[in-house]
Amino acid sequence: MSALPSMSANTQAAGDAAYDAVVVGAGFAGMYMLHRLRGQGLKVRVYEQGGDVGGTWYWNRYPGARCDVESMQYSYSFSDELQQEWNWSERYAPQAEILKYANHVADRFKLRGDIQLNTRVDRATFDERTSTWQVATSDGRIATAKFVVLATGCLSNARMPDIKGLSEFKGNVYHTGHWPHEPTDFTGLRVGVIGTGSSAIQSVPVIAQQARHLTVFQRTANFSIPARNAELTVEEREAFRRNYPEIRRFAREEARNGIYAELPDRGALDDGDNTRRAKYEARWAKGGLTFMLAYNNLILDKAANDTAAGFVRGKIAEIVRDPETAKRLQPDDHPIGSKRICVDTDYYATFNRPNVTLVDLKSDPIVEILPNAVRTRTGDHEIDALVLATGFDAMTGSVAKIDISGRGGRTLKQKWAEGPRTYLGLMSQGFPNLFIITGPGSPSVLSNMIVSIEQHVDWIADCLAFMRERGLEVIEATKEAEDQWVAHVNEVAQQTLYPQANSWYMGANIPGKPRIFMPYIGGVGVYRQICNDVAAKGYEGFVMSQSAPVPKMAAS
Ligand code: NAP
Repeated sequence: MSALPSMSANTQAAGDAAYDAVVVGAGFAGMYMLHRLRGQGLKVRVYEQGGDVGGTWYWNRYPGARCDVESMQYSYSFSDELQQEWNWSERYAPQAEILKYANHVADRFKLRGDIQLNTRVDRATFDERTSTWQVATSDGRIATAKFVVLATGCLSNARMPDIKGLSEFKGNVYHTGHWPHEPTDFTGLRVGVIGTGSSAIQSVPVIAQQARHLTVFQRTANFSIPARNAELTVEEREAFRRNYPEIRRFAREEARNGIYAELPDRGALDDGDNTRRAKYEARWAKGGLTFMLAYNNLILDKAANDTAAGFVRGKIAEIVRDPETAKRLQPDDHPIGSKRICVDTDYYATFNRPNVTLVDLKSDPIVEILPNAVRTRTGDHEIDALVLATGFDAMTGSVAKIDISGRGGRTLKQKWAEGPRTYLGLMSQGFPNLFIITGPGSPSVLSNMIVSIEQHVDWIADCLAFMRERGLEVIEATKEAEDQWVAHVNEVAQQTLYPQANSWYMGANIPGKPRIFMPYIGGVGVYRQICNDVAAKGYEGFVMSQSAPVPKMAAS
C-alpha cells in the first residue's frame, strides 16, 4: 500500500525523518499498533528503549517470572493462523516462552524493519502551526509525526525504594522489573528480598531453592492463590483452538476482566457456610486469578469479601507450620482482590523451609542498608545479594518519563500533577493526535492486557482510517467529555472495595503521587461498548478537523 498523501504532506518538512505515526514501545501494544497502521499504508516508526521487542517480558526476567493469565488466553487473537500455530507449553507460560512468542510475532509479521531498538523517546512536542509532533530520541535525532501513540506499558517504570544506605551495599542488587540478561545464580548466597507483591511471590520459592539462606522483608502481606501450573496437553490445546471464536468473543464482550471463565450468578452470602466453603475449595483446587469469580459480589460487598479473605487466611494457617509466621503472612489490612491478587507456586510452603526467614517490617522496620546486611529495628540480617521486588510507578510513570508538551507548551506532567485525566484512557485534552494504549481511565491492568491492547489498537486504527477517509488531520478530546469520563471512572470505582486498599492502582505505592483510582473498573465488555458507541456517533467527545482546531474552552 502507498503512504497517505493527506497524512504525510505536513510531515515532510522538518526533522531527521517524517512519519505518519510514531509508536513508543515495542511490547505487545506497540507491535500490534505497528502491524495495524502499516496495514493501512501508513509510514510508521516504533522506538523501543530495550534491546529487543517484548516490553514487560523483555525486562522482567526474575527467577520464577511467568504470566498469571493462562497462556492460551494471554496471546494475540488478531491472527487466527498465529493462534492455531503457536504451541504454548504450560498453563501459565514462563517469561522466556512469552518473550520467544513476542519475537516470533515480530518475525512472522515482518515488524522489525520499522522498529528502532535501544532508542528512548525523550521528548515529544506538538507544533500547533503544522499540527505535527516533534519527537526527540536518545540518539540525538528529531522525527516528525502526525500521530504519536504511547505504547509504553502500565508497569514498566521500575521503582527503586528510597532506603538509607542502599547505594553502599557491597553485593549485587537486583530489581525484579529490570533483571539482568545474564543468568543469575544464588547458590550458596544469603539473599534478601524486599517486597511481597506478585514479583516477589513468584521469585521467592525459586530463590529459596538456590540460596543458602533467604530473608523475605514484608511490609504488607498479600493474598495469593496457587497457580496449579502444569504442562498443557495436546487435547487441552486443541480444545482451546477449536473454541477460540467463542472464547475470544466472551473474553472481549462478556468478561469483566477479559478472561474466559465461568461467571458466578450469586453472591457469597446467598449460600450457607458449607456450600460456600465447598465452592472456595473447588476454586482453590483449580487455582489462578478466577478464585475471585467464586461469587459475583466479592469485590462489591465487604461482608461477602470477608468470607473469601477468611478462607484464604485459613489456607495460609494450614500450609505454614510456624503459627507466628503464618499469622504474619495473613493479610488483614485490605479486602481480598482490592490489591492485585497474586498467583503462586508454593509461596506459602516456602516459609516451612529451614533456610527461609520472614521479617515483618510493620513491627520491625528497615532502618538502613549496611554494606553486608539489612538493618531493621531489632537487628542486622546479613546478606550477600539483595533483590528489590518493590514494584513500579504504575500506569503514569512511563508516560511521565517522556517530556510531552501539548497545546500552548503545557506538559502532560503539569496537566496530570493532580492525577491522570483522560477521555476513555485514550487521549488527554490539550494533546491532539496523541493516543495512549491502555492508559489510565481504561480497564488496562484490571484485565487480560492483551484483550485490552487489541481493543485499543483496533479502535485507534479505525479512528485514523475514519479521519483519512474524510480528509481530517487532527483529533482531540474535548474538556467536557474528559471531565465526564474522569467523574464516571471515579464514581464506578467508589462503588467497589478497591479504593479501600493502599494499592498501586491508587498510586499509593509512590510517596507524593495523587491518590486516584487509575484504571476503569466497569469491565472490558462495557468499556468496549462505550468506545464503539463513541465511534458510531462520529467520535462523540472528540473534535476532528483538517488542522489544529482552536480549543473551545481554556485548558483544564
Ligand atoms: P507491587 O505489587 O507494587 O509490590 C511491591 C512490593 O514491594 C510490595 O510488597 C511493597 O509493600 C513492597 N515495597 C515497596 N517499597 C518498599 C519499601 N521501601 N520497603 C519495603 N517494602 C517495600 O510490585 P510487583 O510485585 O512487581 O507487582 C506489580 C504488578 O505487576 C502486579 O500487581 C501485577 O499486576 C504485575 N505482575 C504480574 C505478574 C504476572 O503476570 N504473573 C508478575 C509480577 C507482576 P507495600 O505493599 O507495603 O507497599
